[in-house]
Amino acid sequence: MCSRDAASNQLIDYKNNDSEVQREITTSSGIPVGVKDAIQTVGPRGPALLQDFQFLDEMMHFDTERIPERVAYAKGAGAFGYFECTHDISKFCAAAIFDKVRKRTAIAMRFSVASGEEGSADTVREQRGFAVKFYTDDGIWDIVGCNMPVHYVRDPMLFPSLVHAQKRNPQTHLKDPDMFWDFMTLRPETLHALLMYFSDRGTPDGYRHLHGYGVHTYRMINASGETQYVRFHFKTDQGIKNLDARRCEELMSHDPDYAIRDLYNSIKKGNYPSWSMYIQVMLNEEAKKCRFNPFDVTKVWPQKDFPLLPVGKLVLDRNPTNYFTEVEQLAFSPAHMVPGIEPSPDKMLQGRLFAYGDSQRHRLGVNYMQIPVNCPYRVNVRNFQRDGAMTVTDNQNGAPNYFPNSFCGPKESPRALGLQTCCPLSGDVYRFMSGDTEDNFSQVTDFWTYTLDNCGRKRLVRNLSEHLTEASQFLQERAVKLFTMVHSDFGRLMTEALNTARISKF
Ligand code: NDP
Repeated sequence: MCSRDAASNQLIDYKNNDSEVQREITTSSGIPVGVKDAIQTVGPRGPALLQDFQFLDEMMHFDTERIPERVAYAKGAGAFGYFECTHDISKFCAAAIFDKVRKRTAIAMRFSVASGEEGSADTVREQRGFAVKFYTDDGIWDIVGCNMPVHYVRDPMLFPSLVHAQKRNPQTHLKDPDMFWDFMTLRPETLHALLMYFSDRGTPDGYRHLHGYGVHTYRMINASGETQYVRFHFKTDQGIKNLDARRCEELMSHDPDYAIRDLYNSIKKGNYPSWSMYIQVMLNEEAKKCRFNPFDVTKVWPQKDFPLLPVGKLVLDRNPTNYFTEVEQLAFSPAHMVPGIEPSPDKMLQGRLFAYGDSQRHRLGVNYMQIPVNCPYRVNVRNFQRDGAMTVTDNQNGAPNYFPNSFCGPKESPRALGLQTCCPLSGDVYRFMSGDTEDNFSQVTDFWTYTLDNCGRKRLVRNLSEHLTEASQFLQERAVKLFTMVHSDFGRLMTEALNTARISKF
């Protein structure tokens, strides 16, 4: 850990910058406190009195100050800044955020580590969360992405099992390589994400040196009502930088909060991190005849067929003024989309549209969108929702709370209506199992063959074998079978690496 960096000086800065006369302590009810370091007792040796509100007030708040941590992506860092539109994409999308080149829109971002808990180390091999909240003129738009362009499974029914398999064993409360490799090898669609996870990019150097991906396929609508499909990419302007295994371990013991510190210090020093935003666009006709399922979240769209088109820049120039208020309570949901952007049939996206809001209601309460960091402050929320725990707005005063009404309640938006797609849908209702019906291998083979160079392949094999060797023998064999289906060299190298690891164990 750096001895005195910008983050270490936070309290000194507070003291130096706070010009006001030091204020008096109060209780939560605002009553001035005369003695702060003693409870009320009968005589100097006690016992204590129940009437001591100052003590009860302090203790009762302390007892309840933790809220549930996020089930996944619990540990993270956040910051604020802006999105600047740099290229005209109005022929694809009529969202207000893209309506003028050089237009700026305020953003909040949260980076996180996928399966570790609040107290886990920042440098473990993990997927990183990359979530962006745009405070647009048309309300909140959230992209809840990560640092890999694909997800492990394509059916959201499997999402809880995917997370369970990566978290702790229900009896031992330990991370369990058998759980991890059992799930992964029973679902070959996880291979693409798995290879990226064990490649160099599985241990990024903090949060500033990684790319972000929207991961899912979305739909965009232009002002003429024409639709196309889209994927979002955010390329780091700082350049990709990863940590090798030894440095990760060093940091785990010396500075487990390395990534949070790095982001905070960089912004504090005025070295503002930024990402260039791109889209890949697929026309409806292209989607119909695409050789792979464009709504399959385990697949990328090859960049030579669907080139990256520049859109704008994300810049982070402000640290949170309070972590809990502005980062722990920062709540994202892929269901927050603005006119001009809609979901695609991507099954995993469809599942997440529900899950995120549900989870935030559990963590923060039914009115979590009223929390200042979440609220769409560029617009006035006008609707027919009222009340609920922790209503802290004017609750829309005396406006009618039902629709339709004859008393000047809010009316429907013709612009939003014009930007709504009307698309035909038909098909049999069934539980369509997708484990083996899609191609699980071609893009993984491309990743092994073309994306990685020789050294990258060697490091991937080493990282994979170090983890896999901890799993039961039958799981190692099942995994090697799958790796051989990706590429025979891959299977062979993994067999050799696992044999070496086995020998060195004895
Ligand atoms: P391209 O050669 O056009 O793109 C390869 C992409 O891979 C680049 O975006 C590169 O990022 C990224 N990349 C390089 N190393 C890694 C790594 N270790 N983990 C994750 N991404 C990495 O190829 P295609 O578009 O035809 O895709 C070929 C393969 O590349 C795919 O099967 C997929 O596995 C992988 N890939 C594809 C992406 C896409 O959106 N098409 C995105 C990311 C990966 P950089 O910008 O730093 O060069």
